[in-house]
Amino acid sequence: MRDLKPYAERCLKKIDVLKIRRAKDIQFKINTRAKTRLGVCKKTGQSYLIEIASALLDERVPESELENTLLHEILHTCRGCMKHTGKWKQLADKVNAAYGCNISRTASKDALPEELAHKPRYKVVCPNCGAVYERYKRSALIQHPERYRCGKCGGRLDARC
Ligand SMILES: [Zn+2]
Ligand SMILES: [Zn+2]
Repeated sequence: MRDLKPYAERCLKKIDVLKIRRAKDIQFKINTRAKTRLGVCKKTGQSYLIEIASALLDERVPESELENTLLHEILHTCRGCMKHTGKWKQLADKVNAAYGCNISRTASKDALPEELAHKPRYKVVCPNCGAVYERYKRSALIQHPERYRCGKCGGRLDARC
């Protein structure tokens, strides 16, 4: 597991070097329950809380993904930057141009290696041999398993979960 703090500090510095006016009071926290979003920025009064999905602190994830997410969220603390358009977008372009990074409007778990991303939500189990077919979306197989046969044993499939 990486330590969040040095990465957060490095990213704050990158923003400051470009003379971008961000909030002074920013707390960083690791979110272990994040489902799809890699980062969240919340405002309470004059202070901001940035939550970073714990998956990004895994050493198998490229450091750049962690930094892109931190920079993305830090930019939300700038005045008038809670949306991904207008000023936020201009600042993101500026940071991307300065550091060759890739801050995007949306940062989802799709950016992560497969094994770290969210688990498939749907599955069909072959009642005959127990083979499991997992899907991220409600595909035809999930909706109508009776139309399909098991790829392993040729048996009829049945919906589970
Ligand atoms: Zn955002
Ligand atoms: Zn089977």
